[in-house]
Amino acid sequence: MTTPTGESARAAECSRTPAQGGASAPRFVLVETSHPGNIGSAARAIATMGFGRLILVRPERFPHAEATALAAGADDVLAAAEVVASLDEAVADCVGVYGTSARTRTLDWPRCDARAAALEASGASGPVAFVFGRERSGLTNRELDCCTAMITIPTGAGYGSLNLAQAVQIIAYELCVALQSPETAPGRAHAGEEMPTHAERERFYAHLEETLVDIGFLDPGQPKQLMRRLRRFFHRAAPSRVELNILRGVLRNAGNPEPGSPARARLQAARDGGEGATIPGEVDSSAPRQE
Ligand code: SAH
Repeated sequence: MTTPTGESARAAECSRTPAQGGASAPRFVLVETSHPGNIGSAARAIATMGFGRLILVRPERFPHAEATALAAGADDVLAAAEVVASLDEAVADCVGVYGTSARTRTLDWPRCDARAAALEASGASGPVAFVFGRERSGLTNRELDCCTAMITIPTGAGYGSLNLAQAVQIIAYELCVALQSPETAPGRAHAGEEMPTHAERERFYAHLEETLVDIGFLDPGQPKQLMRRLRRFFHRAAPSRVELNILRGVLRNAGNPEPGSPARARLQAARDGGEGATIPGEVDSSAPRQE
């Protein structure tokens, strides 16, 4: 494979890249960027790799002459940049949301290296987003809660923090290469299965939290890290849309337990019957219910 060297190479090299600015194109999301120059450099970085969808969450100063100067020819990407009020809004329809962070956290998030994340994203069943934090403080834990995985770009010991636009460049490069690769993502990809969007995942987490409060498992006055741990668990498991619907069906019925019911007695009988015994209701209980 040759290395992309300019405008013409851009189109040729990233020929599998979806339409630059289309709704399903991979998006690069910058959260509360303070220096307009970084926005311009990020626009240039993604344009050189054949991408064009830049979303800015509450930028400090934009549009700005410095952004235009540093975009150096990627004016089309800058002109098309969308400004939104929240990260939720930026990634609502995304099936994969990859946060980037220089820091390790107390409660570790599921991690991917940039190459694995790019490979996974290149085979995703819907839109994906790569999310970049503030120059001074990165992404908050609340923002990382939205991310299905976190990427830390390896660096030399003792200095782990890249310039924002350079981090964007590395991720855009990996994604460009992954989109041309015949390889498919190992592990987490569910071949042919639709994955839920961010908005659907958030509805599930809200439903889960409400149910845990209702059944007295979660004290809203002292939530500790419970929901964050559960999010981390579900992000690792990466449930498909159908699986998430099954879980929502379970939550709907959770307020209605019947410990001494005939159904429970049949379950016990099936268990006592040993291997091969079918559990009555097993098939029905897996049927997703629609909202
Ligand atoms: N002081 C901040 C660093 C912010 S650098 C902190 O401690 O988090 C600005 C952004 O660039 C980060 O939020 C992240 O999105 C990206 N970035 C910088 N270095 C990175 C690295 N080594 N791996 C992944 N992303 C990185």
